[in-house]
Amino acid sequence: MLGLIAMVSLTRRRLLGQAVSAAGALAAGAPLARTAGVTPNPLRIVIAGAHADDPESGSGGTIARLSDAGHEVVILYLTRGERGIQGKTYDEAGRIRTAEAQKACEILKARPAFAGQVNGKVEVNYARYDEYLKILEGEQPDAVFTHWPIDTHEDHRATSLLVYDAWLSMKRKFALYYFEVMTGMQTSQFWPTHYVDITATEARKRASCFVHASQKPEEFYAVHDQMNRCRGMELGVKYAEAFIHHAQSPEATLPT
Ligand SMILES: [Zn+2]
Repeated sequence: MLGLIAMVSLTRRRLLGQAVSAAGALAAGAPLARTAGVTPNPLRIVIAGAHADDPESGSGGTIARLSDAGHEVVILYLTRGERGIQGKTYDEAGRIRTAEAQKACEILKARPAFAGQVNGKVEVNYARYDEYLKILEGEQPDAVFTHWPIDTHEDHRATSLLVYDAWLSMKRKFALYYFEVMTGMQTSQFWPTHYVDITATEARKRASCFVHASQKPEEFYAVHDQMNRCRGMELGVKYAEAFIHHAQSPEATLPT
């Protein structure tokens, strides 16, 4: 058994080598923009999640790093989390969760945007593909981060498919990265290609998750705290977030 563990560990270390070098450049303060210097050419980055709290928990530390570096970050929520509060009507819950999302975006210095679907009634069809494509075309992103499609939550899967279809329609021109949420409970089969050191921004990530007071943040953040630490161990830092880069998309965001 020990031999097996050692072999797995060695294999993972070897596999992670490339990713560590990418994250290492970021950790060392390398600019994310295409040109060197203090972001003279800031990127437009969309973080696409299903519900208020998904982009924050999956990539809040990275969002803070990107916005601090001068990049324009838009958090695009597919829904307003209308089904997410027991005992509240969809309208009431939507209002409460929109306000929480706006607070989270202030903490992360991102601009909130809403794609107009309703939590609990999310649709994936040709009309919705067109609608989502128009939103992303309007944003003209250099990079989009979204849910990994193998996830127990139907709305997470829907968001991932909507982004993927738009990426195909836009001729694969933006960098496409996937983030993980509640790994083991929701996201599964997630083997990262890139890591970002969020040690310096973990406190803001935590704060952006805890403003989602309607969602029992102490419970969901406990899982993400373990994930941040685990990914940090893999990278060799205290806290990290991990991503899967679509190999057919450009790498406009994370430097190599
Ligand atoms: Zn969610």
